[in-house]
Amino acid sequence: MGNKLRTAIAVLMAFSPALLIFSIYKTSWVIPSMAFMSFATIGLFAIAQKMNNYSYESVPFKEESERETNTVKDDITFESVAGVEEIKEEIEEVADFLKNPNKYKVFGAKIPKGILFYGPPGTGKTLIARALANETESNFIYASGSEFIEKFVGVGASRVRSIFERAQKRCPCIVFIDEIDAIGVSRNTDNNSERDQTLNQLLIELDGFNQNEGVVVIAATNRLDMLDDALLRPGRFDRQIYVGNPCLNAREKILQVHLVGKPVAKNVDVRKIASKTGGMSGAHLANIINEAALIAIKKKKKTIAQEDFDEAIVKTSAGLKNSNMLLSEKEKQSISYHESGHAIAECFFNGKMPDRLTIVPHGAALGFMMVDGGEDKMLLAQEDLEKRICVLLAGRASEELVFSELTTGAQNDLQKANQLANQMVCDFGMSRYKNRVFNRQMDAFMSKEINEEITAILDSCYNKTLEMLSINFEMLEKLARELREKELIKRPEIEKVLEGFSITAAAE
Ligand code: ADP
Ligand code: MG
Ligand code: ZN
Repeated sequence: MGNKLRTAIAVLMAFSPALLIFSIYKTSWVIPSMAFMSFATIGLFAIAQKMNNYSYESVPFKEESERETNTVKDDITFESVAGVEEIKEEIEEVADFLKNPNKYKVFGAKIPKGILFYGPPGTGKTLIARALANETESNFIYASGSEFIEKFVGVGASRVRSIFERAQKRCPCIVFIDEIDAIGVSRNTDNNSERDQTLNQLLIELDGFNQNEGVVVIAATNRLDMLDDALLRPGRFDRQIYVGNPCLNAREKILQVHLVGKPVAKNVDVRKIASKTGGMSGAHLANIINEAALIAIKKKKKTIAQEDFDEAIVKTSAGLKNSNMLLSEKEKQSISYHESGHAIAECFFNGKMPDRLTIVPHGAALGFMMVDGGEDKMLLAQEDLEKRICVLLAGRASEELVFSELTTGAQNDLQKANQLANQMVCDFGMSRYKNRVFNRQMDAFMSKEINEEITAILDSCYNKTLEMLSINFEMLEKLARELREKELIKRPEIEKVLEGFSITAAAE
């Protein structure tokens, strides 16, 4: 592009003498032609100059540090963040402070300097901080922890300094540091002088700025346990707020927020979608709504129907239908018994009918079962956890019962079951060593005993499941046959097959 411009200038220059000579013959042309030439030359030069500026790589340092933290303005408000009422209440005070810092100055009251949001990813931590900035008409400076850590020692520290300098010039202002664990990892864990310097600078800035000026620092992390204690001390990030995965009611509200302005069919039951998406984050839910819309568009429909949401849930939780994966008859046979085992165990142990059961591969999974979770349980009894393990192990148990052989198909189930059993022993005090919790590193000398306890739980659950399936073997055969023939069966069909299988009696 720059070259073309230079050519144009050259042509113009070559053309100029010709124009001049011509104006000698026609004197009235002299002034207009001179004016034309000078304007054109100046204009072209200016454009060329600008283009050169963009195409050159070197950007002055000042501008680079501007770029690394972007000030964002958007239309996110507290309305856009759903299901987090307690958190909004919790930061009410801070919001009020950002709106009227003077009120607090008069009373000499101090507001928390640093707020730390922690919890699993995609639960709305960033969203809440942005909403707070917009609601209080504060400036918002966003920086991600990982951006600070570069090859060159000292760069991180100077970036921290420049952010706080800018923040103080733009009060009221929220400084949002995402993934703070990238800088704030406990200094005991390893030795990284660049990170230490950055962290030190952050601590200095946190201690240094005057609390009543109108700067609030918010940080977010998925790993509170990894943060250096110095960051969490009073006067620094002393207000820690947990932002967890949404419960049923919250999921419903989040779904509603994301459904606004989308054409939704009349029969759609948002509560139902919420109850099928237990354990998913807000980001996950937003993704499901978007997928459902895409599915509806693909099917050339005018509105998004319930089945589109179901399909979207399957797609986002299990992955895309994988039609390239061709299964042999023997494999299909084995998978249909595996999935039927899960389904019967779900009915027997939890009293729930699965929503759908399929042996069509999705993502890496060869088959899967979708269950409507219903109400979330916040408090789980030992028995609930054992039942979960039983359902997880039922796939493999069913395969073993029918084919007397072990396959790789249970990998994922086994991982989850082992993790749960491990938590029961190490975190929940549900082992022979009642009330005792274990830390794998600190209690390394107990390693053998811990492993024995985990194995005992898994064995007992597996045997219970094996027994249950062999007692209900007829039911298992019937369901596996149906699944093998149809490849995908939904709740009404499953109910029909399992008719007479007394769920309530079994669940007791
Ligand atoms: P985090 O910072 O906790 O990892 P984000 O705030 O970046 O998560 O959330 C990612 C996306 O997920 C948001 O842009 C939004 O679409 C959706 N989301 C997450 N939580 C909520 C919520 N409580 N209400 C509405 N949307 C949410
Ligand atoms: Mg985030
Ligand atoms: Zn399985």
